[in-house]
Amino acid sequence: PSLFGTVEPFAGDPILSLNIAFQGDPRTEKVNLTIGIYMDGAGKVPVLPSVKAAADKLGFGVRSYIPMEGLPEYRRLVQELVFGKAHQVLAEKRVATIQSVGGTGALSVAADFLAKHAPGRAVYVSDPTWDNHHGLFQRAGFETKTYPYWDGATRTLRFDDMLKTLEEAPAGSIVIVQPVCHNPTGVDLSRAQQDALTDLLIEKKHIAVFDMAYQGFADGLEEDAGFVRRFADRTSSFLVANSFSKNFSLYGERCGGLSVVCTAADEADRVLGQLKLVVRRSYSNPPTTGGLLIATVLGDPALRAQWEAEVADMRVRMKDMREKLAAEVKKLSNEIDVGFITQQRGMFSYTGLSKPQVVQMRDKDGVYLVESGRMCVAGLTDANVAAVAKSLVAARA
Ligand code: PMP
Repeated sequence: PSLFGTVEPFAGDPILSLNIAFQGDPRTEKVNLTIGIYMDGAGKVPVLPSVKAAADKLGFGVRSYIPMEGLPEYRRLVQELVFGKAHQVLAEKRVATIQSVGGTGALSVAADFLAKHAPGRAVYVSDPTWDNHHGLFQRAGFETKTYPYWDGATRTLRFDDMLKTLEEAPAGSIVIVQPVCHNPTGVDLSRAQQDALTDLLIEKKHIAVFDMAYQGFADGLEEDAGFVRRFADRTSSFLVANSFSKNFSLYGERCGGLSVVCTAADEADRVLGQLKLVVRRSYSNPPTTGGLLIATVLGDPALRAQWEAEVADMRVRMKDMREKLAAEVKKLSNEIDVGFITQQRGMFSYTGLSKPQVVQMRDKDGVYLVESGRMCVAGLTDANVAAVAKSLVAARA
């Protein structure tokens, strides 16, 4: 046999595979509610006008290597967006931030950094979670465990069980927390629950890794960062991964940030050095184009105001589609409690549909959901929402 003759095939990513199946589906009435990509009212992935204006302003010239940690302006703007301009952690220069290759790249660097500087700890992720949380931390050498999160029967949070598991976890465990717009459930912690979790994480000296991939998609750019900001008011030695894929509609440019909140400025300097080392050994330095676009939009007052309005438009459209879907379902059936559709937040709704029900919707109606029952509400439009409701009600019957 050849050297690589026994290499195992890659099972693929279930969500990306579904997306490919969708592309190949010849039906014209098909609806794609699988992948977490925001689509506008016409069912298209938008180019945000603020980003287009930044691209026009920038043009294209020679783009040499940028620093391992990314563009200085970009990094400053990431910090301000995540922590708020006036936060003490920024005034005290206690945050080490790098420009990352999307949110995934931020988590990957976080996992490598922790593997070296906080080795041997258990990593806890929500049950269920974005699958790559397991994969990225396992690749870095960690064992991953889960904390209860979703109660399928009530379509709500298992908060007491979540706290109990994290209470019983070994002190100093790594805990991945999605602070807003939880993927895949759409169920977030209330303010009081955030505070209670903060108390517990501090008491147990757990290392929080916040994964904020949807800032701006729940209540607003500032509001959505509230959990992370209040956490930073109380403690340090934690990490925040943020992504610009969704809120800038720049999926393919691969832009995000990783911030490590430290106890002192000199510690943050050394931590930044270690993040740079991880970067140097894996991809050397981040790509330029997306970073320049984002720094241009965030750094220019007029473009920034425009972008904030565009994020608000996306947020409002998703809420609107949730309400329309709930109303359409209600028209067809009184037996389905539609409250969960409008109560869940962000891009996703965990419908509670079983795998056979999801398969029925796909096969009979060309309505594609993830087999876990996760629906991307950003794929709903005025043109397809009634058909989706009909398919959903039929599948439950
Ligand atoms: N974390 C979560 C919870 C996500 O849903 C996603 C995107 N699907 C990411 C991280 C990764 O984002 P990016 O595409 O920027 O790598």
